[in-house]
Amino acid sequence: MNALPPRTSRIMHRGAVPPPIAVGGHGVWLVEQGGREILDASGGAAVSCLGHGHPRVIEAIKRQAETLAYAHTGFFSSEPAEALAENLVGHEPGGLAAVYFVSGGSEAVEAALKLARQYVLEIGQPRRTHFIARRQSYHGNTLGALSAGGNAWRREPYAPLLSPAFSHVSPPLAYHEQRPGEDEAGFVARLAAELEAEFQRLGPDTVAAFVAETVGGATAGCVTAPAGYYRAMREVCDRHGALLILDEVMCGMGRTGTLHAWEQEGVSPDIQTVAKGLGGGYQPIGAVLVSRKVRDAIAAGTGAFQHGHTYLAHPTACAAALAVQTVLREENLLANVVAMGERLEQGLVERFGNHRHVGDIRGRGLFRAIELVADRGGKAAFEPGHKLHLRIKQEAFARGLACYPSGGTADGVRGDHVLLAPPFIASPAEIDLIVERLGEAVDAAI
Ligand code: PLP
Repeated sequence: MNALPPRTSRIMHRGAVPPPIAVGGHGVWLVEQGGREILDASGGAAVSCLGHGHPRVIEAIKRQAETLAYAHTGFFSSEPAEALAENLVGHEPGGLAAVYFVSGGSEAVEAALKLARQYVLEIGQPRRTHFIARRQSYHGNTLGALSAGGNAWRREPYAPLLSPAFSHVSPPLAYHEQRPGEDEAGFVARLAAELEAEFQRLGPDTVAAFVAETVGGATAGCVTAPAGYYRAMREVCDRHGALLILDEVMCGMGRTGTLHAWEQEGVSPDIQTVAKGLGGGYQPIGAVLVSRKVRDAIAAGTGAFQHGHTYLAHPTACAAALAVQTVLREENLLANVVAMGERLEQGLVERFGNHRHVGDIRGRGLFRAIELVADRGGKAAFEPGHKLHLRIKQEAFARGLACYPSGGTADGVRGDHVLLAPPFIASPAEIDLIVERLGEAVDAAI
């Protein structure tokens, strides 16, 4: 049960103490050095959608590495990249007709922002230099993506380097943002009015795009929007000729029960980012899905997207992602996401519904979070020095559970939450075990 003793390492790790070494994985389980098995309840950061060691994905990687591991996109395309593009946008879901492959989520967001900027230039609207995003959001750690993000703690050290092209409006987080006595429609109308006011403040013809995570992930924890929210936001964007960029790096590729989270919102984006669940962690890969409108404007103008990285459309990464997406479809895993998502929600409600330190249980599909509060009535967060999220992570780990806690956004408003994003292959018994171990960890940590 107990973790191995601390060790030294020359890697600059994410925390002050080097983490244990993972040496294997199978299904929903990770194996650490020494042989202890850990239930991977968050797929890392909502990455490992097929779990670990899936033979079909491993075989696809091997085959591609033997055939052609890498070819530079300045010279060649590759068979797996073409096939993956066809798989993702061949049927033009929601009008998305083209794809740009990158190596991860932040790269996808950077590319999406530059694509939006190039689009407005192509259509002769160079004054559109602003992007409106949301507070309590996360879009990645590179400077453009961090500028878009609304996580005060992540932004603060780099504030002088961040772009003034970005401003932020309120998130649709009902638990904190919906006012007493305000119904859902009123809440949506107020958020739409706030977006409209931000367009007016900036000058409506200076805004290139509104950027949002369809279901908010890392910063505030599985924030689903109230019904009608995205239709209302889309209307504001359309009125002023701005693009809608939906960041589905974390919530996309099946995580919420539909392949794209926007399918449940009655809108489709002009530009969409995906990453984590695209390759399921088997290879680093992300993508920007591009609407016909944007693609055609670029084709008719400059002719090509003015951007690039060395590892664009990496053949081995594309082969892995194609295998992941094929397994997802052939094994009908979205149905399991819906069924296990409901079971997880029910389990969390039973275990934490009356817990005095759990203020909110939210999310969709296999993307769920609990928010921890010092005072349930007043929704007050624990003091930042409490470091509750780190203690929960430790207590969970000691019980053989890896979950994804976050310590709020340090803007004085939000508290700690724990995010769960188990692999889509999780069984009922494994879902129940996640709830059981998390319950023990939360009680031990508080
Ligand atoms: N966008 C969203 C919504 C994310 O959740 C993340 C990562 O958590 C990113 C972008 C950045 O992705 P990456 O860490 O792969 O750069």
